Amino acid sequence: MKKISAEFIFPGNSTPIKNGVVVFDVNGTIETILNPELDKIDWNEVEKYEGIICPGFVNTHCHLELSYLKGQLTKETELHGFIKEIISVRDKFTEEERLKAIDLADNEMINNGIVAVGDISNGNSTFNQKAESKINYHTFLEVFSLNPALAKEVIEKTTRLKEAYPNQQHVSITTHAPYSMSQELMNAVNEASGNILTIHNQETASENELFLTKTGKLYEELSSFSEDIKNWTATGKNSLPSFLPNFDSSKNILLVHNTFTNKEDISFAKAYSDSIYWCFCPNANEYIEKRQPNYSLFINEKCTIGTDSLASNWSLSILDELKTISIKDSTISLETLIKWSTFNGAQFLGFEKLGLIEKGKQPGLNLISGLDGMKLGKYSSVKRII
Ligand SMILES: [Zn+2]
Repeated sequence: MKKISAEFIFPGNSTPIKNGVVVFDVNGTIETILNPELDKIDWNEVEKYEGIICPGFVNTHCHLELSYLKGQLTKETELHGFIKEIISVRDKFTEEERLKAIDLADNEMINNGIVAVGDISNGNSTFNQKAESKINYHTFLEVFSLNPALAKEVIEKTTRLKEAYPNQQHVSITTHAPYSMSQELMNAVNEASGNILTIHNQETASENELFLTKTGKLYEELSSFSEDIKNWTATGKNSLPSFLPNFDSSKNILLVHNTFTNKEDISFAKAYSDSIYWCFCPNANEYIEKRQPNYSLFINEKCTIGTDSLASNWSLSILDELKTISIKDSTISLETLIKWSTFNGAQFLGFEKLGLIEKGKQPGLNLISGLDGMKLGKYSSVKRII
């Protein structure tokens, strides 16, 4: 048994324990947390760290297969411009360069204290890396197509890809975004996705504009790719209340980005289902749109954190994402940020042993140091203890 302590232990979903001691075995299985106010502690047996200790981080939104695009795309293009750029540069890289970038990105996440990832994939390029990695991956095989006649074919092709995935417990079919799916494909993904689903949500202002009035920059960009968008009917509502009822309310549904989500959208989602999770990718938002969600609106919701991909981020570090939220909205407490980045993500992805420092769990342990009181600051850093 090993015993470690720090200024505070953040269990993941409850109040931090001052000078708490975490006791765990060689496999990283938690035996107990001791509280010096209640328990007798022999401090000679305890290794003491400066900073706080929390469970390993859970990254609920990444696209590992896009890692080769690091530094390739221009910043602040807004979403419609970003999509256009990806299409123009993606064929310039060899298979070897792509696999090397995937390996580096996986290792970067391990070093940054990430123990689980919800990863979006369009192909099989990450499958071998994931089978070997120390990280627990849930892979979401993403589909999109605005052509209703292709819905069946798209699902069949993705089902074959799913069958080739090394861990059948943690792979599922998912939707890309509300603006890139025909109604037929939405219905087919709802059928095929099992009990978990993710969708990019309200990442850009023009997504709401598309649903409200079938106008705007996203509409124009989509029209330039395909004729199918022209047959589409505006709902007169924001994006979220337009698409969410397509999915069974019993599923764990992760809405990703939420930059232009308002109070009414959140109320709609809450009334619709009690298994809605929200994912913020603050640095990707900064990279693409230079806009952040209104975090304080989400304070009572099940929020999680994602890095998005290296195509639209400088690093794959959950701590870097938390720092950005802390700087943008200092009212969000460290306890809340830790819950978002550990416990909630593990719950969403169904990794029961992760996200919580509690007897019997194997959450991994991170040491965060360089805090400014009980706030994350520019110089805060993370070190993986186990
Ligand atoms: Zn994404």
